Amino acid sequence: MNKTFALISLGCAKNLVNSEQMLYLLDEAGYVLVPDPEGADFCIINTCGFIDAAKSEAIDAILEMAELKKAGKLGALIVTGCLSERYQDSILDELPEIDAVLGISSFGNIVGAVKALELGERPRLFADRNAPVEEIPRVVSTGPGWAYLRIAEGCGNFCAFCAIPYIRGRYRSRSLENVLAEARDLAAHGIKELIVIAQDITRYGTDLYGRRCLAQLCRELAKIEGVEWIRLHYLYPDQFDDELIDEIANNPKIVKYLDIPIQHINDTILKRMNRKGTGEEIRTLFRTLRERIPGLVLRTSLIAGLPGEGEEEFEELCRFLREARIERAGVFPFSPEEGTPAAKMPHVDEETARHRAELILELQQSIMDDFCQSFVGRTLRVLVERYDEEEACWVGRSYADSPDIDGEVHFEGLAREGEFADVLITGTGDGILYGEEA
Ligand code: SF4
Repeated sequence: MNKTFALISLGCAKNLVNSEQMLYLLDEAGYVLVPDPEGADFCIINTCGFIDAAKSEAIDAILEMAELKKAGKLGALIVTGCLSERYQDSILDELPEIDAVLGISSFGNIVGAVKALELGERPRLFADRNAPVEEIPRVVSTGPGWAYLRIAEGCGNFCAFCAIPYIRGRYRSRSLENVLAEARDLAAHGIKELIVIAQDITRYGTDLYGRRCLAQLCRELAKIEGVEWIRLHYLYPDQFDDELIDEIANNPKIVKYLDIPIQHINDTILKRMNRKGTGEEIRTLFRTLRERIPGLVLRTSLIAGLPGEGEEEFEELCRFLREARIERAGVFPFSPEEGTPAAKMPHVDEETARHRAELILELQQSIMDDFCQSFVGRTLRVLVERYDEEEACWVGRSYADSPDIDGEVHFEGLAREGEFADVLITGTGDGILYGEEA
């Protein structure tokens, strides 16, 4: 009887790609995926570990599975990903309930780890975190009709508040051939939207080819039959050049939606956080992008309470957000991460950071509501994701919505999952657009 397993994937989309790779390898080896860990022979928790909140979530999941094990309702517990990588020296001692741990360069050995467990061992598999990215096929768990395309691993930007370079290693691009081969395979399996990800996609190719290759990659992706939407996430603000802006503006398959994390706008804070570029350069970039790309939707990430942020600097950030009217934003309170330079710098207390983050969210909420209102009366192309029985409507996303982090379009009419539909927007509420098939 084939052994069964469950997989809990935490953290970012890049980690999800690793989970999908483990799904493929275990399936190839004859293990059967089950939705519920209760009753499974083993459970894998692919963890995130870059900020306190993520670490707590991972540890809660581990302790929850440990309870199942204690109750005899789960065979073994395997922990992979960033938390195990970051705390590889202590995790098995601190969490004795765990039976096996794998680091971020050992996903390819998941079957080996399971086999070792079956022999009664307690495997600890860690490899060079700067090793070239392993090319492993995957079972796509997203969709219908869309999938992430991870083009590089690691990061060399060393922003002062960020632990990721110490966990995921230095920047390593995948080769153009491998990325394009994967994209063709995804398109051949009905994927229409490719969401291009890495820690920083603007530096794609600099390590491998000695030059920025994102524009070239987008040109090649657009040639693939079946690919209709190319969505770009994690663009670093100081890495834009005319070639990239032209490609985004003129390539009809590149969705006019750009995710450009800026974290802050104040020059002193940006410098102290080792962010490349100034507040004025960010303002100029956003102005240029809006002029060159009509209808552009901007998404960004912001951290409130960074070291050096007093009332004045915080107000400067709020003033910038009121002017720039960025349509989509993720906001986090500063989390001093051990091992990062920023953790040693004086900063406001947690409560103040959380309060400032809430104020930014409020500010952004009204910007987002106005943005949603601007679609009423327009017809939007929507990638259909599912039929919601409860709401008795179809649910999908427009070009302005990235999965899991933005809004949705709810509409009535004829549609098919994984296909596009044209929807006349008739109303909006709480970030959702409502409409009917046009
Ligand atoms: S760009 Fe900065 S914030 Fe983003 S992963 Fe790299 S070091 Fe971290």
